[in-house]
Amino acid sequence: MRIDHFDVFNLRFEYPNAVGFHYAGGTCTARLTSVVRVVTDTGHVGLGSAYAHPALVQLVVKEQLEPLLRGKDPREVEARWEEMYGLTRWYGRKGAAVSAIGALDIAFWDLRAKAADKPLWKLLGGKEASCPAYASGLLWKSYDSLAAEASKHLERGFRRMKMRMARSEEYDTQAVRAIRKAIGPKNDLMADAGMRYGVDLATRVGKVLEEEKVFWFEEPFKPEDYDRYRAMNGRLRVPIAAGENEFGLQGFTELMTAGWVDIAQPDACRCGGLTEALRVAKLAATLDVKIAPHTWSDAVALHANAAMVASIPHGLTVEVDQTGNPFIEKLLAEPLVVRDGRLKLSDKPGLGIELDMKVVESLKMADPLRIPEGNYSDMVFGPSHWTPAGPYKEGVA
Ligand SMILES: [Mg+2]
Repeated sequence: MRIDHFDVFNLRFEYPNAVGFHYAGGTCTARLTSVVRVVTDTGHVGLGSAYAHPALVQLVVKEQLEPLLRGKDPREVEARWEEMYGLTRWYGRKGAAVSAIGALDIAFWDLRAKAADKPLWKLLGGKEASCPAYASGLLWKSYDSLAAEASKHLERGFRRMKMRMARSEEYDTQAVRAIRKAIGPKNDLMADAGMRYGVDLATRVGKVLEEEKVFWFEEPFKPEDYDRYRAMNGRLRVPIAAGENEFGLQGFTELMTAGWVDIAQPDACRCGGLTEALRVAKLAATLDVKIAPHTWSDAVALHANAAMVASIPHGLTVEVDQTGNPFIEKLLAEPLVVRDGRLKLSDKPGLGIELDMKVVESLKMADPLRIPEGNYSDMVFGPSHWTPAGPYKEGVA
């Protein structure tokens, strides 16, 4: 089996009236993702995805990696990873380049498992065709609306959900209480500060999260802010989660050893593929850190991350965007199934998923290198959509 070519589909959709949700980064108007397809000379197809600047992903994959990897065996995943990492080292290591090589790496794993005629989760050592999953949503809205949304997640089969904070100390604490009241004590709630707290505020809000028995306290600080992560050591009983904005084994090593986290969140479509996410997971096991990958971009990434969670004993749960994202809900030929808090995984070989090409065609950007202005949740294009973080002065330590 040899690599013939790579396809990159840069996808975009806009929320109705260009208002998806409000959050600490402003108003999200639209979303982006890059799905890749690795096509082999045997006619086999592997799928992967990258969540990064789509134009950069397109250039790295098509202009640099495709000519150099054509004719090589995609089943030799680790060898291909080393080549890709070496090829992009000068401008890569963190950011869009390592996310782009991760997209191809996921597709190579898909092909390796297909060649072995095994579902990927099984090839990686998983025992069960499902893994724990949580609803990700609960962005800034009224307390009543948060309670109503939380109940809807339970009706859809979730037993765990994540909310967003970093609006004001008053809002953050009241919102946590409103959702806890709505879902009762038996379901899990996670709270995300989106890197916008200081140590004092994290300690004060963290005490409320403890009282409300929050399952984890996500990203109080920026990923490189090791001093603040270290300062939280021993201050709170609520577990600290971080890592969605970190890349590569080295980055996670620093975060988990120089800083202080209880739960690492490597996202295969951002941090360098499944190969690198599994290396992070291996190190995490030695440090007694659990793994709960971030996933916010698309259903291909979700299945890759879910395969990892299903295959490692310290795999905690996987994130499922519930903001009405068609890359999650409509991109695949078969819909996602969540029952009793678990995401169903496919019994078919590889990732066990197929793209709905009609949906891909309808969401494909007209020019993969030109991104229309908008707030894309994590990426912002155009000055009118840029909302700098703040104004959280009261808690900055
Ligand atoms: Mg987060």
